[in-house]
Formats: sequence, structure tokens, C-alpha cells
Amino acid sequence: MKVTVVGGGIMGLCAARALLKLGATVTVLDQGPLPNPLGASVDHTRALRSAYGGNTGYMRMARDARAAWRRVWSDIGADLLVETGLLVLSDGSGTWSPASRHALAAAGVPVEDIAPADLAARYPMLQAAAVADAFHVGDGGVLLAARIVEGLLGWLEANGANVHARTPVVAIDPDHAAVEVDSQGHGRWQIDADSLIVAAGPWTAKLLPALGGVARPSRQVTVYAEPPLELARAWASAPLIVMDSGSVGLYVVPPVAGYGLKFGDHRFSLAGDPDDDRTPRDGDARAVVAPAASLLRDFKRYRLGEARPCFYDVEPEERFVVAPLDGAQRSWVMTGFSGHGFKFGPLLGDMLAEAVAGRLDGAALTAWAQGFDGDA
Ligand SMILES: Cc1cc2nc3c(=O)[nH]c(=O)nc-3n(C[C@H](O)[C@H](O)[C@H](O)COP(=O)(O)OP(=O)(O)OC[C@H]3O[C@@H](n4cnc5c(N)ncnc54)[C@H](O)[C@@H]3O)c2cc1C
Repeated sequence: MKVTVVGGGIMGLCAARALLKLGATVTVLDQGPLPNPLGASVDHTRALRSAYGGNTGYMRMARDARAAWRRVWSDIGADLLVETGLLVLSDGSGTWSPASRHALAAAGVPVEDIAPADLAARYPMLQAAAVADAFHVGDGGVLLAARIVEGLLGWLEANGANVHARTPVVAIDPDHAAVEVDSQGHGRWQIDADSLIVAAGPWTAKLLPALGGVARPSRQVTVYAEPPLELARAWASAPLIVMDSGSVGLYVVPPVAGYGLKFGDHRFSLAGDPDDDRTPRDGDARAVVAPAASLLRDFKRYRLGEARPCFYDVEPEERFVVAPLDGAQRSWVMTGFSGHGFKFGPLLGDMLAEAVAGRLDGAALTAWAQGFDGDA
């Protein structure tokens, strides 16, 4: 079986790995260098958590995702998940935090409630005034994303995949699993295969305009920061932190493995184009860290690094789209990862490979990837 994969981000690479393991001949095409620093997958760190509000489908998938990562570690010869645990804070106005607590406890995950008055003693970088409710779960960690992408690329190349950077796909024919590529300087040509996977991240709607409504690019900003020296020790053993203030906005990835403390905002801008200039704008960093000012002690003494604008693709309900593109199920799309897909890359890749090989029904795959497990 010959398979073409468009996109060398975490989704394309994980699908390529799973298909190679099933014995397929795999070609990966990316428009940029590989790893592509403009892709959604390439940053130092990505969060792994199973707290998912009331969405028990993704909660369960996140737990299954851990087993899929362990298989990746065994392939690439490195364990690139740093276990930190997860601290969920809430100002009391949202439903995400109580729903997460309830779903995790019902699934048997030990949940430790922390009285706001006790927060600062346990986490000296926090101040409790803005927090009405808090809990901790051990199930949370930081994936070393850039190193994972590099590791997967190395594994694919060592195991016989044809990986082509700087090879933009300019047209696709889902019915024939064919793509037309434009290799700068060498003209255009067509690549035929038995199956095709389009995993083009925030560029998806450029290749598949019909998906424009379900895969909207969204400019998102993260900011790295250096805490004051006396808080560095507390941060070194800190958990991932998520703040529910009506909806999940601020998240904080603690410094791990030599990478910095990172602030992000899960609220979607739904604006911009992934080909836009990535220079940060005035106010970018301030907008992301604003909620941290009331949450973190001495926040004005943190040294903020440059804001880093990046793009991901958003589905209106934050549900993933892993679906056939044609009636005969020769071509597939992976999109709509809505800022929370990285942790699922290997699991999604494994499941899609099963469908490409004809061992899993396309409709069942699509429903599972949307996070519907019957009670979500
Ligand atoms: C700021 C930020 C924070 C995030 N935080 C988390 C988190 O904490 N936890 C989590 O689980 N997830 C997180 N995510 C989401 C996660 O990173 C994404 O869901 C995931 O990386 C998407 O991977 P992808 O392979 O679909 O897309 P990408 O990594 O963007 O890969 C798509 C690739 O396709 C290529 N491509 C596009 N068009 C073409 C074409 N025409 N021809 C050839 N190649 C093409 C691109 O060059 C690119 O390399 C975050 C994302 C961002 C941006």
C-alpha cells in the first residue's frame, strides 16, 4: 500500500509512523523545512492533561494517549514526557473546573481538593485572592514537543519513509488519492498513491476550502517568562496550571528540562492567516499574561520574553475532524485540533492507520475522534 501524507506536523508524522508499522510505503510532504517552526506542533512544550470539563470522551482518550506515547518512546529511544501533575484553579464563575473534578473522580482518578487559603503554602508563587476553588490531580505532564517532532522525523527516515521538506502540495484529488506538488525550481508534478492523508494544520482550508467553516485558523500567542530568583525553586517543581475564569483562558506550563516557564491563552482569536508575518504586535504579551497578575505573587518582577504568535485550526466545538474525504475512503483529513491536539497525536495516528488499512470503519473513527463516547 502506497500512502501520501501532506503535512509533517505531529499529526502527519504520527499517521506516517503508524502506517509504516503496518507495512505501507509512506511519503511525507511538507511545504516548509522539517521541523517547520511555523507549524502548530513546533514549540518546546505542550501540555498533557486528562481534565476535560464534562467531555468524558477526550478525558478517556487522554488516558489512552499515554499508552500510545509510551510506544513512541520505545521507538525513538527517549521518554519525552515530564510528569508534573495538574493544578486546576477557578474563580468560581465557570463550569469547566467542577465538571472536570466530577468526571475525573467518577473515572477513579484521585482528585485532591486544596483550600484556597492553603495554596500559597504549597505553591509559594501563587496568591490565593483570585481563587475560589482549587484541586490537584497527578495526571498531568509536559510533552517536549520540538524534541518529539525531531525524534519522529529521525525514526521515519531511519525506517524507510520518504520525507520531503520544502515541497508544497498545490492541489489534491481525493477520489484518486493524488496530489500535485510544486518543488521550487523543479516545476510541478503529480504523486499517485493508494491512500492520501491531509494533515495540514492551520493551512487545511487553503487545500480544502470546503472545510473553511470547521478548520478556522486562529492566531494565538504564548509568552515565555523568567520568575524572580527566589521563586525559581518553587517553579522548578510546579505542576501545569489551568485557570477557569468562566472559560479556560490562562494556562501556565512550568519550566521543565531546561525550557522556560510559559504562559498561554486558550481563548481563540479566530483571526489571521498562518502565512501572515509572525512578528509580535504591541500588547500581545500583556494580553496573554494579564490574568497572571492577580494569580501570581510579585508578578511585576517576572521578566517577560518576547511574545510568540503561532496558529492552530479551530473547530467550532473544539472537536477533532478525522474523516474520509471521499466515498471510497481513499483520502482522509486530520484537522480541527483547536489548540489541544498534540497530546493525542500518536493515538490518532494509530487509529487513522487502522482505518486506512480497512480495519476500522470511517464513520466510527470520525465519531470517536470527535470525543463522543456515548456520555460526553
Ligand atoms: C500556542 C499553542 C499551544 C498549544 N498547546 C497545546 C497543549 O498544551 N496541548 C496539546 O495537546 N495541544 C496543544 N496545542 C495544539 C497542538 O499543538 C496542535 O493541535 C497540533 O500540533 C496540530 O498538529 P498538526 O500536525 O495538525 O499541524 P501542524 O503542526 O501545523 O502541521 C501541519 C503541517 O502541514 C504543512 N502544510 C500545510 N499546508 C501544506 C501544503 N499545502 N503542502 C505541504 N505541506 C503543508 C505545514 O507546513 C505544517 O508543517 C497547541 C497549539 C499551539 C499553536
